[in-house]
Amino acid sequence: MDRTKKERKRIKNYTLTPKKLNKLNSTLIFMTCKHCQENPVYKLPNKTLCRGCFIKYFENKVIKTIRKFKLIELEDNLVVATSGGKDSITVLYLVHKYLSRKNLQKNISALVIDEGIDDYREHTIKFLEGFCEKLDVKLHKITYKDKFGYTLDEAIKLLKGTNISACNICGTFRRQALNIGARELGATKLVTGHNVDDESQNILLNIFKNNFKILTRLGPNNGVVGDDKFIPRIKPLYMLSEKEIRLYTILKGFDVGYDECPYSRGSFRGEIGSMVNKLESDVGGVKSSIVKFYLESKEDLQKKYLEEEGTDVTYCSKCNEPSQREICNTCAMQELLEKLKKD
Ligand code: SF4
Ligand code: ZN
Repeated sequence: MDRTKKERKRIKNYTLTPKKLNKLNSTLIFMTCKHCQENPVYKLPNKTLCRGCFIKYFENKVIKTIRKFKLIELEDNLVVATSGGKDSITVLYLVHKYLSRKNLQKNISALVIDEGIDDYREHTIKFLEGFCEKLDVKLHKITYKDKFGYTLDEAIKLLKGTNISACNICGTFRRQALNIGARELGATKLVTGHNVDDESQNILLNIFKNNFKILTRLGPNNGVVGDDKFIPRIKPLYMLSEKEIRLYTILKGFDVGYDECPYSRGSFRGEIGSMVNKLESDVGGVKSSIVKFYLESKEDLQKKYLEEEGTDVTYCSKCNEPSQREICNTCAMQELLEKLKKD
């Protein structure tokens, strides 16, 4: 295969384990592309794509998603939730590109949440700072320590022996930190890098946990319409897979790290991810089928589960942030941490 020098360098520097790298390489089909004479790098069910065609296919899919689900309007002020990982870097780059074509690139900024995970997050943030500087996008930072009084590492030490996992507390804190951060920056929408892998896992996770009300809130654009305190979220990478995003970052030469969060292993979500990945490699198309089925059913689910209970927004009696309970999950977690600290 005749790869360009830059692509060879990217793949050589790729930080995944050899096993994962082999898996990725198995998706690179070394045949002549139907669309051009260059060497193909990716296989779709009905055709193969060369490097240039893959990039076009990928970027067009993002634009189609934005248009189909009406994710971005000209007057929007967008804040992109970034971590420095491949998904958020890609969504930041492409939404910035989309706005630049309309000369609206000043309507975007980035927000990173520093959870306080030693020897992990600082590396991705360092890369992110350089990336934002190159794009001329302002990067804002919120830390769990400043916002909630604990780094994630500290919180997990205190929670040892409880049934609260790292991802439980991290997800709870992140949701609130992102919402408050985006609101304080005057965002009309919060952009996230969720892809078809994340969404198919979210759908199954909420089915398995019997969370049908939460299930109704998934999708490429979600949020409580009409509530000033809640910033709606949009997912322009919704129709793309993790594998495609990884390949895109390699082909574009984004020097992004692929290391996983040290707390991700052994989580329930991780188990669902492995199950879906296995089905995807056995059957193919499983992830997009789950998402398509969900989108087809979403309206009916909303009718059944939201209309019954109403869509009125309620607020936490402690912090006054949107919450479905008297005390929001974030305040409940903070109370628990305070108690564990004293004991
Ligand atoms: Fe947080 Fe879990 Fe994601 Fe790690 S894997 S950043 S602990 S949600
Ligand atoms: Zn609260």
